[in-house]
Amino acid sequence: HLESAPRGSRLKGKVCIITGVGSLKGIGRASALLFAHEGAQHLYLIDFDETNLPNLKSTIEGKYPDVKVTALQADASDEAAIVGVCKQALQEEGRLDVFFANAGIATALPIDSVTPEAFMNTLRINTLSCFLAVKYGSAAMAKTNPSRGKEYSGGSIILTASVAGIRSGAGSVDYSASKAAVNSLAQVAPNQLTKTDIRVNSVCPGLIETGMTSNTFDYARARGTAGKLGQLNPMGRYAVPEEIANVALFLASDDSSYVNGQNWAVDGGLTSTL
Ligand code: NAD
Repeated sequence: HLESAPRGSRLKGKVCIITGVGSLKGIGRASALLFAHEGAQHLYLIDFDETNLPNLKSTIEGKYPDVKVTALQADASDEAAIVGVCKQALQEEGRLDVFFANAGIATALPIDSVTPEAFMNTLRINTLSCFLAVKYGSAAMAKTNPSRGKEYSGGSIILTASVAGIRSGAGSVDYSASKAAVNSLAQVAPNQLTKTDIRVNSVCPGLIETGMTSNTFDYARARGTAGKLGQLNPMGRYAVPEEIANVALFLASDDSSYVNGQNWAVDGGLTSTL
């Protein structure tokens, strides 16, 4: 839909970090394109798989020449990498306005097959990455509007959780636990980031066709049952990544300037039925 939609300005002047942008069908890529469409000043785009980063960078730069893009191959759960990108944004742009911590992995194992190592790995990638975004993103944001004083800075941190973190859902116990912890982070962080305009929220997608779920969709298509994948949802369908990106855009923009500490289910009403 971005092909025909007029350019917007909801992120004009904003410096944004987005993690987990490397999947061609993912939420991160859809969000990067939407943030560029809405006039973001500089996008720092991170994925630990570098395969599709050059394509994303050239696609954005080709279509939106006014948007600066820095694509970085890095692990979103690596402290030094996150400290580094926050520092780079401050050095190059003097500000950080948005940190969309979206990188994550899905797991699907029965509980007796989840080793302690596997459990901790899921928590590292899905949860620690969000903690680092809150910790170092907020510190960078606190330096963003020096004229207002350190205590009254602004910015938006958005964490991708899941409906699996609200109620029991698809995937393994480690996945659900990691996403519940992300929701908790979004709820408690505002209590520490007091007297600032730095906001923290999570988005909790339901089932979406992305790189992460492609096996599920391919399997169902091969059996002619893909249509059934959305049937448990009150809306009778699953989502597309752009529907999550739209909510991330709202949370990133000043339209949500008094929205803080909330877990935003973007699930077609699924959790309302549980
Ligand atoms: P995706 O697999 O298409 O994209 C995820 C991207 O994150 C990939 O490019 C991957 O390389 C990257 N990534 C993974 N771990 C990383 C790390 N440690 N550092 C840097 N990059 C990393 O999947 P998606 O569905 O777009 O996933 C985005 C987020 O949405 C994830 O947090 C996922 O848990 C969440 N989510 C997805 C669904 C769904 O149905 N697809 C539902 C609920 C929540």
